Amino acid sequence: MSTRLFKKVNQWQQKIFYWHRRSRLLLPGMCLICMQPLLGERDLCQPCKRLLPANLICCDWCAESLSSDYAKQQLRICQQCAKTPAAFDKVLAPWLYKNPFNKLVWEFKYTKNLAAGYLLVDLLFDALIEHNQTYDCLVVIPGQKKRIQQRGYHAPSWLAKHLSLLTGIPFLKNGLMRVKDIESQQDLNRKARFLNPKGAFKAMPHIAGKKVLLLDDVITTGASAHWAADELKKQGAASVDVLAAAKTAR
Ligand SMILES: [Zn+2]
Ligand SMILES: [Zn+2]
Repeated sequence: MSTRLFKKVNQWQQKIFYWHRRSRLLLPGMCLICMQPLLGERDLCQPCKRLLPANLICCDWCAESLSSDYAKQQLRICQQCAKTPAAFDKVLAPWLYKNPFNKLVWEFKYTKNLAAGYLLVDLLFDALIEHNQTYDCLVVIPGQKKRIQQRGYHAPSWLAKHLSLLTGIPFLKNGLMRVKDIESQQDLNRKARFLNPKGAFKAMPHIAGKKVLLLDDVITTGASAHWAADELKKQGAASVDVLAAAKTAR
């Protein structure tokens, strides 16, 4: 597709998405957490919004929660990350993968509840506004083929596509490719878990010079994000920040 045509299609998609969001506000809704009916707002009531487990003070590299002693520091790095620096510049994981936020993520990821997906996009958008940084492109950590086949879709790509329509940051679908599937992380020790995704990604040359926002749904150890960012930087990305909806406890 030519660049001009691509821009035109994108403008139309943005307009349709804008009206889709507006129409959702006009229709009666239901809070996805407490299931109470809602008017004038969609999918999340104010009391439940206040209950979302915010990850306020956390490590800039692994998003692990830190004590309030770190609150005033410009750069917040936990003791673990001080030993092994991350390849990316900063991670944003505004919520903890805890009740009731985990319910939203789970419903979206495993049951393809798109209402939960739209709500996550809205929440990620709010977090980005607060972060107040500009990015040249959105890239996702590519999923494993087998899992995408099982679930029928790739949750981070869906989020990236809609976040792109909302923010105007172009989503580079093929910015980062997966070149090998990796074994399950579950039974590995810490070091093996960290090294497991090494060599699993390949970044495309058009990423050079770009400020990249790397999106994933949940961040656990941060190892995949590390090796993905490492590859993006090897291809010349100017900077890489990671955005994940939730952080699981270590
Ligand atoms: Zn509620
Ligand atoms: Zn850390």
